[in-house]
Amino acid sequence: MTKARKLKHFETINDLVIGDICVGTFKDGFVVLNENIKGRITKNIRQISGEVAVKAIKIAPPSTIEFELLEGEYEIIDPTRDIESFTLEDVGKKEKIYCKVEKIQQTSGPTLFTLFDGSASIIAKAFAGPGKRAFPDLKEGSTIKAYLLIKERDETIEADLEKFERLQDKREEQLLRKIQKKVEEKAKVDEINFLIKSDVLEKLKPAILNTAQLIKKSILEARPILIRHHNDCDGYSGAIALERAILSLIEKQHTDERARYKYYSRSPSKAPLYEYEDALKDLAFSLHDMSKFGVKEPLIIIADNGSTEQDLLAIKRIKTYNTKIIVIDHHYPGKIKEGKAAVDEFLDSHVNPHLVGGDNNISAGMLGAEIARFVNKNIDSSVLAALAGIADRCSGKEAEQYLELAKKQGYDKNSLKELAEVIDFEAYHIGFIESREIFEDILGNKEKQQQIIALLKPEIDRKVKQQLEVMKHFAEIDDLGTFIFAKIDIKKAIVLGEYPKAGKSVGILNDFLIEKNKKPAATIGINPDAVNIRASPELSHIDVNKFITELREKFPFALIDGGGHRNAGTIQFIESAKEEIVSYVEDMIKKA
Ligand code: MN
Repeated sequence: MTKARKLKHFETINDLVIGDICVGTFKDGFVVLNENIKGRITKNIRQISGEVAVKAIKIAPPSTIEFELLEGEYEIIDPTRDIESFTLEDVGKKEKIYCKVEKIQQTSGPTLFTLFDGSASIIAKAFAGPGKRAFPDLKEGSTIKAYLLIKERDETIEADLEKFERLQDKREEQLLRKIQKKVEEKAKVDEINFLIKSDVLEKLKPAILNTAQLIKKSILEARPILIRHHNDCDGYSGAIALERAILSLIEKQHTDERARYKYYSRSPSKAPLYEYEDALKDLAFSLHDMSKFGVKEPLIIIADNGSTEQDLLAIKRIKTYNTKIIVIDHHYPGKIKEGKAAVDEFLDSHVNPHLVGGDNNISAGMLGAEIARFVNKNIDSSVLAALAGIADRCSGKEAEQYLELAKKQGYDKNSLKELAEVIDFEAYHIGFIESREIFEDILGNKEKQQQIIALLKPEIDRKVKQQLEVMKHFAEIDDLGTFIFAKIDIKKAIVLGEYPKAGKSVGILNDFLIEKNKKPAATIGINPDAVNIRASPELSHIDVNKFITELREKFPFALIDGGGHRNAGTIQFIESAKEEIVSYVEDMIKKA
């Protein structure tokens, strides 16, 4: 029988010589051998379709090739596969692939080789003795033809690496180029329009495209993705929009049922910043997974946190490994020089409206909702964007447009407010575990959502009402003419561990004061080592971040810290400095 060669996906016309017999597919008048090579039949022409065997009779690089059509049966020799094409039905078969050795991990048992061919990756094991390195001459970065025995573990496809051949010079070059091309092609981001019209978003588009591409590329390379987000409704909204887009692609990329857990996780952050503790935790888990499963260094996405200098140490620590970091945030990132903030040097991508002259009215949830659509354009995230805007009290034409979109889906301002309150309540109680299903149900399953709102709404209303009574009774409230100023010893006015907590309680009183007096208000909640501030946005002299800068200069001994938004944030200090700091903050607020 005629023996026909099936070309590898990376081979080019230079790999063929006259007389080579190959198998190809007949399409639109051409015989296609692979993505790079196609030619016309000039000898033995007859009516054909589908797969055919041909002989090369003329080769004229760069692209002209002519074939003679062969008749009769043929046998394909040395067929190779793309990793992406493996299914559970291949278990038990021997297969060959051309690939790059991405990672080598020695366990106490076998050696794990992560093989990647541009289409997907697979873990191939080889055993040379307990804890003994198999194939010691194989290095990370080697390009090989791998002989695999396809296996299965818990519905996951893996393989035994039985033997390999190293690819030489030109072959290696071609394969690497091919892999890169394939990844870039698949990671390409469609330039779709934003959900709304916004000059600020347009200016952020390059950063948004870069972010979406990095996310897609990471999924293709089987790089685990970890989302860290602020533990509030805005942070959740952004993270969950991204989660939907990311999981849909991960499921497409892997035949492995567990891929959605192996290559993705999400953690709420306790503090409104990327704390050093969180960074170490993320590193510890990532390094554990790398050594246990042979996966790569992760891509960490920080949402609704991460832009400020306070996040810098944690980000730098993460960067001591070959980890990728994206920040999607709307907090003021500190001084901006030529469109860059202090954290930029250490980030792979940074989306923050402040960088392009915008402000925090485009919230992290809105940004996450938009970026999610560039990762997977089928994701509908407009309700999440509107919800985030309501929760973070965003104003401006962006927030209004998202509200319009949500309205079309049956969510008016009131129902979004209810939902935002429920999310905050749940976020507060769930603490810092992932709870993927709980939030997907609240946000994605309308029936469950209604059921949960009906259950929690009366309880939240009751708690808020009670708390307002406490606040009204114990706060010192002054009418300063242009605005109302209130202060309260907040530590003594809340029940520790109960909802609502300090910052929220201060906000409840401030809202009440605005409503009652029909004028702006500012409220401070005094703790032994911190002040919570909530103020009407019209009071433009109140800027928590500016206060912090000023206090740091004036009181170097007070260990000033904190942050947040201009009119809603926290200033921290050491307890001994309380009197001085509180009176200074009071003066700054009152001097309007
Ligand atoms: Mn936010």
